[in-house]
Amino acid sequence: MNVRRADVIVVGGGTMGTAAGWALAKQGHDVVVLEQFGHVHSMGSHGGKTRIIRHAYAEGADYVPLVQRADALWQELEAATGTNFLIRTGGLDMAAPGFGHAVAARRSALEYDLPHEWLTGAEVNRRWPTWRLPDDWEVCYSPDAGFLEVEPSLRALATEMARHGGELRTEEAVQDWSTADDAISVRTTRGEYRADRLVVVAGSWTGHLLAAIGLPLEVRRKPVFWFKVDDESRFAPDRFPVFIAECADGNFYGLPVHGEPGVKAGVHNGGKATTPDTIDRTPHPSDYEQDLAPFMSRCLVGASEEVVSGTVCMYTMTPDEHFLIDRHPEDPRIVFATGFSGHGFKFAPVIGEHLAALATDEAVQPYADFALSRFALHAG
Ligand SMILES: Cc1cc2nc3c(=O)[nH]c(=O)nc-3n(C[C@H](O)[C@H](O)[C@H](O)COP(=O)(O)OP(=O)(O)OC[C@H]3O[C@@H](n4cnc5c(N)ncnc54)[C@H](O)[C@@H]3O)c2cc1C
Repeated sequence: MNVRRADVIVVGGGTMGTAAGWALAKQGHDVVVLEQFGHVHSMGSHGGKTRIIRHAYAEGADYVPLVQRADALWQELEAATGTNFLIRTGGLDMAAPGFGHAVAARRSALEYDLPHEWLTGAEVNRRWPTWRLPDDWEVCYSPDAGFLEVEPSLRALATEMARHGGELRTEEAVQDWSTADDAISVRTTRGEYRADRLVVVAGSWTGHLLAAIGLPLEVRRKPVFWFKVDDESRFAPDRFPVFIAECADGNFYGLPVHGEPGVKAGVHNGGKATTPDTIDRTPHPSDYEQDLAPFMSRCLVGASEEVVSGTVCMYTMTPDEHFLIDRHPEDPRIVFATGFSGHGFKFAPVIGEHLAALATDEAVQPYADFALSRFALHAG
């Protein structure tokens, strides 16, 4: 059997794998990305058509420079491929009294001098009459937020990867690999590879592929739905900003009507622990009728509790909900990134650049906030 030799093999051609392949190819490395399914699919963590991008980052101000760099790279990719997949709608980070999401978003906006407005629920209702928020909610409005269309975003990364000589092989699952002093060998369902470096970005499958390390990950089942609205034009991208809403009933997010019927919404918190092999991939009314549907009909004028369609996706959670990006503790030639905890998509090109640097330059250190050692340190 022929063995394909490459500088770097990337395991997983989903969100971060396509981005890593793009960044490595752009730097001139001979890279092969191996994906078990087709390119862009609904079996992992990038299903559901669209992803929010927001800069006033409530999860921590340290993310702001990363999302700013990612935003610039997404725009470069749009220009390079002549496509448009970043749609700016503005974004509403909202919280009921006693909840911290809006304040945390404002803190990041202030620290990085990002354009934003601090509003009450009553002010939001006046400005966007589609909303019917309680008057005393706190809201941070960010005009630069919006959403990315998943398929054209990942296609743009793949197109640019190919233009720079990178290779994406689909319908080819990695079965195992082994290390020797002179190379890393990878066996797939279709062939064998040998490389100097390995990048493992297998999403919800990463814990299984790197079982020997015992990564602190939990895969969660995350359904998302499109709700029927009475007048779709009032929920169009130019009239309805993306939103995150934190309140006693849950942590909800939503996006405008775009590309298909209904307004998209989901619940960020909670979710049943599962595995990629055993997950129930069918969306059920019980997934939304207790919390999400009542929120939609209560807080949005013209939104019903009736669902038009739904899909089931996976989050790969870390204990602190920050990413997990590092070198393998026993072999620094192996780099991995996982645990994107339901908020990684917007960062893909900047994570790709970081992975490319980690894989090819020994002097580059992993970001401390995302390093594996933080969990060992916490445990100690
Ligand atoms: C419902 C939902 C809503 C979300 N909303 C947002 C949002 O609004 N904004 C945001 O920024 N983020 C959001 N996210 C999070 C974001 O989509 C994820 O963080 C991101 O897609 C994770 O990328 P990944 O590369 O780790 O996983 P994936 O994109 O799933 O890629 C992993 C890939 O590895 C492949 N693979 C696994 N094992 C093998 C193997 N053995 N051989 C070959 N290939 C293999 C898989 O098939 C898959 O394609 C959301 C996630 C979900 C589920």
